Amino acid sequence: MQKKTRLRFAPSPTGPLHIGGLRTALFNYLIAKKLGGKLILRVEDTDLGRIIKGSQKHIEESLEWSGITLDESPAKGGSYGPYNQGERKKIYKQHVDKLIEKGNAYYAFDTKEELDAHRKNHELKGKTFIYNSHNRHKLKNSLTLSGKELEKKINEGDYVIRFKTDENRVVDCKDLIRGEVSISTREIDDKILFKSDGMPTYHLANVVDDHLMKISHVVRGEEWLPSLALHVLLYEAFEWEAPLFAHLPLILKPTGKGKLSKRDGVKFGFPVYPLNWEESGVVYKGFREEGYLPEALKNYLAFLGWSNDKEKEVYKMEDLINDFDIKNINKSGAKFDPEKLLWLNSQHVQLISDEDLSKIISAQMDVDLKKSIFITKMIKPRLEKLSGLKDTFNYLINKPNFDTKTLEKLRNGEVKENLNIAADFFSGYTVIDASNLKQSMFSFLKEKNIKPGKIMPAIRIALVGKLEGPDLFELAYFFGAKEVVKRLNNLSSAI
Ligand code: GLU
Repeated sequence: MQKKTRLRFAPSPTGPLHIGGLRTALFNYLIAKKLGGKLILRVEDTDLGRIIKGSQKHIEESLEWSGITLDESPAKGGSYGPYNQGERKKIYKQHVDKLIEKGNAYYAFDTKEELDAHRKNHELKGKTFIYNSHNRHKLKNSLTLSGKELEKKINEGDYVIRFKTDENRVVDCKDLIRGEVSISTREIDDKILFKSDGMPTYHLANVVDDHLMKISHVVRGEEWLPSLALHVLLYEAFEWEAPLFAHLPLILKPTGKGKLSKRDGVKFGFPVYPLNWEESGVVYKGFREEGYLPEALKNYLAFLGWSNDKEKEVYKMEDLINDFDIKNINKSGAKFDPEKLLWLNSQHVQLISDEDLSKIISAQMDVDLKKSIFITKMIKPRLEKLSGLKDTFNYLINKPNFDTKTLEKLRNGEVKENLNIAADFFSGYTVIDASNLKQSMFSFLKEKNIKPGKIMPAIRIALVGKLEGPDLFELAYFFGAKEVVKRLNNLSSAI
């Protein structure tokens, strides 16, 4: 019988959700949707020492903001819960006991100091110490100890449980992106499956849960590829059918050199988390707070490791699901390009209706809806993101400040005179007629024998404070003749 399609996103709450994690969640979501399956959130909180307070909440809220909807999760529940591994301790113990019974796992009692000494010893001989068939017969474990001594050690509870890797065979693993990967068991160590604190390690809990939660596809970051052979061996040992595996390529720094890290956000000045994250009194800005749209972020992240065979770059979710195909996921790392993301964001801003955008702008800039509709029409075409609007477009509400450098530059030539001429022109209006403002102004200038290039930049500075902003005539219409004259006079008396 063919398995139902069930994918899971399985983050560890050891910190906020990073865009790498969000990309993994998105690829799982896209594949689940494409194949008509389900997406599950499983929180892998078994490494007690590394859990960071608030990170599960950050993960859940980030997924929600991103619109990556879950079918089963800690918050939502489902038929295969609990979905926090911390609440499944008993299950792992039962399973690891089964492996011991079958001879696939064993107790090990070596202390950290003893293992360090073995490692050093090997290094001195130019070798690498590996805890598997090479060495396990010389170490302290239930394969070398017996009788009362073994019983005593087990009762003391100070042990770990290790997987007993086959001595000498090749494990054939299949990855949907990379094809066949073969690994010799001589290179795999007898990984710890269960720790002395009564908790499973990632490997055991992950395999047990993927089986019990009936996961059909395991889609995760490339950093887990080295664990694949062990996982395949674990499925074999339990006599379970393994799911399909796909390991996503790394996300690289904008320079292309090395993996994108949390610190790169601060270094290069862009967010790396979907939502704000506060740590030791420092707030790390999220994409949401920086004015990015979840649709744009998803669109961008989809292309970090996937490529379509079309020219199309701007995608809405339904089209993304339609065009997405595991076959088109790449093996090589994908460079994170903040500029491209910003461009995609501006494209998605254009897809927001004027009505919806003006509500956002009205709330952010503290202006009434009528004014906001006007502002929206003016600024939308060049709007890249939805943050800091109140500051960026402050000149639409309050008169601009001029910096001394700008004023210095304007002090040369006939700028002052031109500003007065422009003020004269606008004084002629009670109400600006938007339809022929440009034309009338140009004929006025022609009459006065002034080239537009000699006057327009100064008018813009008078209205905006700098050489940027929307179309000058739209701006003048927005302000009204009286305000325009006021601003022109203002600049004129400042220079
Ligand atoms: N908890 C692991 C992580 O955070 C999950 C890896 C997997 O998906 O198997 O990366």
